[in-house]
Amino acid sequence: MSGCEGGSCSTCGTDDPNRLPPGMLKAYDLNQSTADGILVWTEVVEGPDGPRIDDSGAELIGAARNLTDGRVFAVVFGGTELKSLYGRLFGYGVDTLYHVREKSLERYSPEAYAECIASLMDRIVPAAVLIGATSRGREVAPRIAAKMGLGLTADCTGLRADGRKLIMTRPAFGGNLMADIECTKYPQMATVRPGSFPRPEDSEGQGTVIYWQFCPECIKDVISDEPMEEDGSDIRDAKVLISLGDGIRDRSLIDVAESVARKIGAQVSCSRALVEKGWMPRSRQVGMSGRTVAPEIYLAFGISGAVQHRAGMLRSGKVIAVNNDPDAPIHSFADLSFIADAGDVLRAMDRE
Ligand SMILES: Cc1cc2nc3c(=O)[nH]c(=O)nc-3n(C[C@H](O)[C@H](O)[C@H](O)COP(=O)(O)OP(=O)(O)OC[C@H]3O[C@@H](n4cnc5c(N)ncnc54)[C@H](O)[C@@H]3O)c2cc1C
Repeated sequence: MSGCEGGSCSTCGTDDPNRLPPGMLKAYDLNQSTADGILVWTEVVEGPDGPRIDDSGAELIGAARNLTDGRVFAVVFGGTELKSLYGRLFGYGVDTLYHVREKSLERYSPEAYAECIASLMDRIVPAAVLIGATSRGREVAPRIAAKMGLGLTADCTGLRADGRKLIMTRPAFGGNLMADIECTKYPQMATVRPGSFPRPEDSEGQGTVIYWQFCPECIKDVISDEPMEEDGSDIRDAKVLISLGDGIRDRSLIDVAESVARKIGAQVSCSRALVEKGWMPRSRQVGMSGRTVAPEIYLAFGISGAVQHRAGMLRSGKVIAVNNDPDAPIHSFADLSFIADAGDVLRAMDRE
């Protein structure tokens, strides 16, 4: 037989239906998903100058743009004031923006947001859906996955693409190894830790805006809505972090570190050891079960560099370690190491 090796092809002259020309079965496979592009739920936060795109949303749009040659879709919830953000979202890489302006959805409701995003997924049929692993993202994403019978890879710290397939990386087995996870169903869903990807440069762009109509039936009455007590600072925004670990045996060194931080424009963070001791709040914890940070300079005092801690500060610019044990793991990945007493160095920095 010459030319194609198939059976029912008119040029081949045979009538064996199981021997179709190469590639034909794949091309006409009705079970093959046509899902394409990436949908990102972009959270919007209220800033002093009006609404602002949350860092995790911006980071995920940048990541989605690099992961797909297809379209990047974003969905935002809010009123007409969000129009001021359109250009910026397109600048980050969004092709089509779905703006949900339903009045009742201006107030966050995990059930209603999940229903609405699921309705969009039905319409768009994206290959992947990315949601920040923020406190809201962690509430909404599993609800969507359950509603649509999909898998969800939660708390990813890395994403790669192999065509439309997403390879989702997240810590596993207590953070002792990083697992690459693939999902067999489309759309593939992931929540991604804030800070896992760089925030794209601010620029203005153009794209398509679609006002998405959605009338939720599941909104519950809000019984109380009290703001959390916080001084407003966030270690994820810091350019320089002074991070304290169990090697600082004396609690008063936290005040010394705060004093140094004020002088050099830094913030103070910590390892889980200090949170467990009750010396520092959880909002300051860096690591797998804490926050993911990416400062330009990460100064680690008395931190051993356990894998769970490292997972939260991998993207730091320069790592400077002060640890009196020359064999501490942190020295193996620090850019600059001081084999010294953490207290001595902190007090000297405060004086100088
Ligand atoms: C599921 C799970 C999740 C976790 N999540 C996190 C997380 O998010 N963040 C996190 O940090 N940890 C996390 N951990 C805990 C982690 O495994 C480590 O136990 C923790 O990071 C250790 O904190 P540390 O480095 O401060 O303390 P240690 O490991 O006790 O290290 C203290 C270091 O200080 C040094 N030192 C002692 N004295 C001095 C001195 N005078 N001067 C200078 N150096 C000194 C020692 O040489 C030592 O290297 C997690 C663990 C698990 C199982």
